[in-house]
Amino acid sequence: MKDFTFVLSTRIEFGRGYIHRTGEVVKETGAKKVIVITDQGLIKAGIAGKAIDSMAHAGIDYVVYDGVQPNPKDVDCIAAGEMAKEFGADFVVAIGGGSSMDTAKAVAALITNPVTLPEIMKPYKVPIAPAPLLCIPTTAGTGSEVTSFSVITLTQEQRKSCMFDEKLRPEIALIDPELLLGVPDSIVASTGIDALTHAIEAYTCKISTPITDAFALQAIRYIGRSLRTLLYQRTYESAEEMMMASLMAGIAFGFSDIASVHALAEAIGGYYDTPHGVANSIFLPVVFEYDIPADVEKHKDIALALGVSPVGKSDREIAQGAVEWIETLSRDVGIPTLKELGYIEPERFEQFADVCMINVSTPNNCRRVDKQRYIELFEATFNR
Ligand code: NAD
Repeated sequence: MKDFTFVLSTRIEFGRGYIHRTGEVVKETGAKKVIVITDQGLIKAGIAGKAIDSMAHAGIDYVVYDGVQPNPKDVDCIAAGEMAKEFGADFVVAIGGGSSMDTAKAVAALITNPVTLPEIMKPYKVPIAPAPLLCIPTTAGTGSEVTSFSVITLTQEQRKSCMFDEKLRPEIALIDPELLLGVPDSIVASTGIDALTHAIEAYTCKISTPITDAFALQAIRYIGRSLRTLLYQRTYESAEEMMMASLMAGIAFGFSDIASVHALAEAIGGYYDTPHGVANSIFLPVVFEYDIPADVEKHKDIALALGVSPVGKSDREIAQGAVEWIETLSRDVGIPTLKELGYIEPERFEQFADVCMINVSTPNNCRRVDKQRYIELFEATFNR
């Protein structure tokens, strides 16, 4: 077994209708002035309003920044950070998917640290503890409510970069599965496959541990039996299992790593602004298939957890069944192929491969990947 440390400092509050408890939970912390970080979609869907009303009811003084964009941008973090400081915020509430939660982490860090965003957009570069952060996830995808990462797009460089530091981990994750019941189909599908990618990469990467393996496999089981049900029937029970899967996958990769699917997805996400879950869904089958020979046993475990039948199959064939499971789901829910995105320029694959090679997770992919191999993975995905 490898040496490792595992301390989950986030308090998790999980239950139906819990968004209405936001005010009460924030009040308990002694917060005086709160900045809420969210996006226009969550305002229009009436979801942000539920948390905001609850804070107003609890007599909490707050201000709202609702300018978060998908693949959150550095410029928005800076603008929200300035708003927070002007207001004198001492607490941050994030309502939304990974984009709102990651922006909120950057804002929490900027409130307490007398530095610029570029100075802390590096590993372990948050000198002072950020303002406390409460996250309310509204997608079952990223698990950002329990991770110590913040993935931000550097607009000038057209690439995504990751800030990570234990101090960024949210103080409270307030999780209300009911919020998933109104998510549009395309977002349920792509974010669900995003959570699956986290669990798979956490389980197969070189630095997985017995604890992260347990979280990852359980997340995969939940996704195997509940992602389709959530999509096609929107039952509360499937929403519960998908929210739990996203959270458990977040814990799993947060204490191990992600790997080459994310390196490829972030390379095109940073350049073309491709939604993160869609990009992961596109690359997951190809990388999974490439990785099988490096660890047949673990890839077989994943297929079994997804519900692939083992009858009459070799271990390798069972593992291959997971590739078909993922591709069938992607087709059923209309996730485009890399070519169908319509804007991908194959002549840039070499440039994107360079971006993949500087991704901090590349060395932890279970099968060795070099620049040439990344170019081949881009080509194989494009021609699939
Ligand atoms: P998102 O936050 O970008 O949201 C996508 C869209 O869905 C938005 O338009 C939003 O308004 C809408 N939406 C969200 N919840 C909704 C709801 N309940 N009802 C209706 N509409 C809703 O999507 P995401 O996939 O959750 O986040 C992706 C981002 O998270 C990427 O930038 C990715 O890099 C990052 N990420 C971060 C971590 C981490 O640990 N920090 C992990 C994985 C991914």
